[in-house]
Amino acid sequence: MYTPPLLYKGREIFLQITKFSDIIGNSSTISLIKKGLEKKTLPHFILLEGLYGTGKSSVAELIAMALTCQNTISGEACGHCDICLANKKALGKSGLGVSSCVEKVNMAVVAKERNMIEQIRSTFYVLHSDQIYIKIFEEFHSLLEADQQLILEETARIPENVYVILTTTNLSKVIKEIRSRCLTFNFKRLTLGESAMLVDRVNKKLRLKKSDYESIYRKTNGIPRNIIILVEFLSKAEASQEEMNDLLGIIDKSVFLELFSNMNHFSLYMEDVARMESSYSDTTILNQLKEFLVQVTFAIEGDIYTFLSKKEISILNTVTIKKIYDALKLIEQIKEIEKVDLDILFLKLRRLFCNPMTVQEQKTSASLAKNIKFNVRQEGEKPPKLTRFGGDDVNESGNG
Ligand SMILES: [Zn+2]
Repeated sequence: MYTPPLLYKGREIFLQITKFSDIIGNSSTISLIKKGLEKKTLPHFILLEGLYGTGKSSVAELIAMALTCQNTISGEACGHCDICLANKKALGKSGLGVSSCVEKVNMAVVAKERNMIEQIRSTFYVLHSDQIYIKIFEEFHSLLEADQQLILEETARIPENVYVILTTTNLSKVIKEIRSRCLTFNFKRLTLGESAMLVDRVNKKLRLKKSDYESIYRKTNGIPRNIIILVEFLSKAEASQEEMNDLLGIIDKSVFLELFSNMNHFSLYMEDVARMESSYSDTTILNQLKEFLVQVTFAIEGDIYTFLSKKEISILNTVTIKKIYDALKLIEQIKEIEKVDLDILFLKLRRLFCNPMTVQEQKTSASLAKNIKFNVRQEGEKPPKLTRFGGDDVNESGNG
């Protein structure tokens, strides 16, 4: 047995995963693996494939623990026997870890070390014994094709007592001979519901609203590792709602409501725009404005008031579905421009939303309003404070 040098001194473990039930998401994959362990039918050569941070390494380690433990409990490692303790120590290391029955190598770390690859190869011969031995090769695609070929040759004659587990974030870079020889398990990002479960497990201090869960999900792309890092950070920092919004790239709806209600007042409106631009990044502003307009559409067109109340919608008295669609188009157009000028976008939006209609248009829209429920104002709500002509400098927007 060779003793590889320690490249990393342990790693930060954000969330202790000691059994399969600790893993959230990818439930059918996990359940299949667990059944394979319980019935001792797991193939000796498997590949765990998927995005960074979706739990492949944790699962590889749980498999290694379960296959070697002396007192397994329904297919899972006990976590306390001598072998489990030694394995935990070895697997807790980041680049390389070795115990008497588990060897974990991160190929991204050793890919350029020729003698290391030779050593890995040579160990296949000496492993034959009664004791179960697990080899975990992480980030297997980091190996050159020729080196993958060398490992493949060894796996053609894996001894009965040896299991080889590969993990990769880039399946297309794993040679196809290997892909066809091992059983591949795919790891996906979490769903919104799974993400919320994980958030609740990690969160100790934060009081979260439904929209916060959605923002965390968007920010982390549903990647478990990212969720854990983000929520741990926010939770430990005991972040305020405002700080959390800032980090998550959320602009509170009140900011947009104020912006829209000030549209008829040019200087107030541009002050709002300037304040927003100094507080948030261009991307955040564009994304959040889009999100806001979509929510307004839900409210006006679909009578869905989960994000905005009827009262809040009544502030947006100049907003129609047609104008929202035009605004969304403007936002999409500006997103494609390399150097975004948000001032111009907001001037255009102002022109779009409070451009005075001709007398004929006003008549048409008034008669439409009687027949079509295109604006919640007709539903017994109090008339909004600001009318289209309520501002003191409405004429600045011109006549189109
Ligand atoms: Zn054990």
